[in-house]
Amino acid sequence: MKVNIRRGANEIGGSAVEVTAANGERIILDLGLPLDANENSADLLPDIKGLTKRTSDLLGLFISHPHQDHFALGLHIDKTIPVYMGKTANKIMRAGVKFNLPNAFTFENVHEFESWKPFQLGAFKITPYLVDHSGYDSYAFLVETDGKRLFYSGDFRSHGRKGELFEHFIKRPPKSIDVMLMEGSSLDRLESDKRFESEEELEGKFIEIFKNTQGLALVHPSSQNIDRIVTIYRATKKANRILVMGGYTGFIMMSLENPHIPNFTWSDVKKIVKTPTGKKHEITAEQIAAAPKKYVFILGAGVLTWLEKAGLLNPSAHYIYSMWEGYRESSADRVVAVMERTGVPQSYIHTSGHADIPTLLEFVAAVKPARLVPIHTFKPEYYFELFGDIATVELQKNNEEFEV
Ligand SMILES: [Zn+2]
Ligand SMILES: [Zn+2]
Repeated sequence: MKVNIRRGANEIGGSAVEVTAANGERIILDLGLPLDANENSADLLPDIKGLTKRTSDLLGLFISHPHQDHFALGLHIDKTIPVYMGKTANKIMRAGVKFNLPNAFTFENVHEFESWKPFQLGAFKITPYLVDHSGYDSYAFLVETDGKRLFYSGDFRSHGRKGELFEHFIKRPPKSIDVMLMEGSSLDRLESDKRFESEEELEGKFIEIFKNTQGLALVHPSSQNIDRIVTIYRATKKANRILVMGGYTGFIMMSLENPHIPNFTWSDVKKIVKTPTGKKHEITAEQIAAAPKKYVFILGAGVLTWLEKAGLLNPSAHYIYSMWEGYRESSADRVVAVMERTGVPQSYIHTSGHADIPTLLEFVAAVKPARLVPIHTFKPEYYFELFGDIATVELQKNNEEFEV
């Protein structure tokens, strides 16, 4: 088996890995948009044969999870290329198109896989492993061919709401891995013993603010960070409030078809509407204005003006930004400006979607790969220092094929 990291050997975002079997058949793991890209342009496509005009040796594209930095360059590929992804990941992408989100698109030739169920694709045997990550329905992949075993970690962590997936994995890891491509998003600093806050710890922080806020509590997460929305829901309930969300967030919650995820069939989850049609889960700005202390509002930029007009943005409310701070520069800036103008106090509650260093160490120690290759990191050289004692670290360059 030959592996070629097309992008991601020394950056976070835009991951793309080409894997070639001895018989010439190929698959691609992820095809993400680089984080620093100004727009999603076909010019950014890595130089992989058959991407824009399919060739028969290209068997498929595997999407680890529905984050832009893992799938978005897929917009430009030949629509007949089979795309393999999780069922719910596919639904989340479809929800984006239904709600006209900027840059949303769907793949046409989608094949849905299931976790822990290996399947054969030409010369390759692939096993997806569901992992804990801030993106819902995220997978790592075991790729086997020619008697060799490659493990691609995708993006993962252990401190989210699906942390037990990590615990389960390290107890029963895949054996005899020849090469592991492992993400290292959080290796900006070498604070090796620092554990990231868990979603459960965030829950406590939300509860405190919700309880101490006299008016409406507004939380601003990513609509696709389902773990976070569950955290906000749990805190809302414990603070004796009711959760209100807009159509897009609500639609994603419904489309997951998971009865344990907050959705509009629950009596304490409401959808904000301009004109009620008589459905039980509907609520208007006027109803919220009558008793703002009863509600926690999941904020999307679309309803901001509306909330302001309803007089709900005032110093008795509280705004909590709950995503990666890097996103603030774009859309959230406008929100912050409105909060400042209306005198709404602001807080920041967030934890990383990626593994902390102790988690990465446990992961490497469990898998025991013969070779460990950095990907999805700005600090590949740190791998020597962090993992050198327990693994043979090997740096690879973008577009330089290596043998497994
Ligand atoms: Zn991700
Ligand atoms: Zn990523």
